[in-house]
Amino acid sequence: MKFVRIGLIALGVLIVCAGAVVGTLMLVRDDLSPFEGYILSTESEAGKAITVRYMGNTNLLISDGTTSLMTDGWFSRPSTSELLLGTIGPDMDAISAAMARGEVGTLAAVIPVHSHYDHAMDSPEVARRTGALLVGSESTANIGRGWGLPEEQIRVVGSEEPMRFGDFTVTLIKSQHFQFPDPDMAAAALEDPLITAPLIPPVSALDYKMGGAYSIHIAHPLGTMLLQGSAGYVTGALDEYRADIVMLGVGGVVAQTARYQQDYWEQIVRVLRPEKVFPVHWDSLTDPLSDKPVMPNLLWSRVLDFQAEAGVNYALNHAKQDGIDAALFPMWEEVVLFQE
Ligand SMILES: [Zn+2]
Repeated sequence: MKFVRIGLIALGVLIVCAGAVVGTLMLVRDDLSPFEGYILSTESEAGKAITVRYMGNTNLLISDGTTSLMTDGWFSRPSTSELLLGTIGPDMDAISAAMARGEVGTLAAVIPVHSHYDHAMDSPEVARRTGALLVGSESTANIGRGWGLPEEQIRVVGSEEPMRFGDFTVTLIKSQHFQFPDPDMAAAALEDPLITAPLIPPVSALDYKMGGAYSIHIAHPLGTMLLQGSAGYVTGALDEYRADIVMLGVGGVVAQTARYQQDYWEQIVRVLRPEKVFPVHWDSLTDPLSDKPVMPNLLWSRVLDFQAEAGVNYALNHAKQDGIDAALFPMWEEVVLFQE
């Protein structure tokens, strides 16, 4: 009996200690300050221009003043416990607040980079509020259908099938999702990747299956750009494309082998020959959007290997070696990418 009691006490102490460790990991995060000098300054310029407003992760509002497009439009931030143990769905208040702050008006299209929750979960609601077409794979379409978005506001598009929105030509190019080095995470997030029926939230985070990962190429008479949301690549897939600006997803990339890291840079950035690279998909997925990008806590960054700080440095250092400009987007502010 005594042993049982001692055993129970020891177990209790262990649980408290483990809780304290996880709690600490979730409270501490890396320091953003070394990167603040890289955050692009905002400037108001006259004349025709393409502007972007960055709103965390891979949310980009791209506009030429006449036509506006949004990638992802993901503003809800479910907590770690909701992600691991509960169910999730669009947070209508968070969507309202972010759309107001980012001055998201009428949109021609909302285009998630793939169908995981951290890209596509809110896309149908943003499309509903802005009159936009929801553009992507059949899985993305099923997220839209589950949300009740009318079929005429949904466009399933094939790889390398250009679409015209005003002066923008948008092409989704089939790519590869980030390959999770951990086999359990890889299986949970990437095996059986299709959403085959309308998805009605709240659902488990893993029900937002990947659906097909895309590089999004956006061409305009003023300049061309490519968004690589997830840090994966298909060798040769972008050989025929060029982009003046690359927005490069770096979440998790430094958890990969040196070879993978090199190939990722080679296959996305070097083949496109950009003048400028912006690292994206490095800020926290579990904290509300704030004035500045929020660094992930150490549970995500170190234990789950998201490696935000090292990921940003990966892009900055590779760009420097190749003589390419690199910068970070400020949150919410309109910055000029190209002008006449
Ligand atoms: Zn993903």
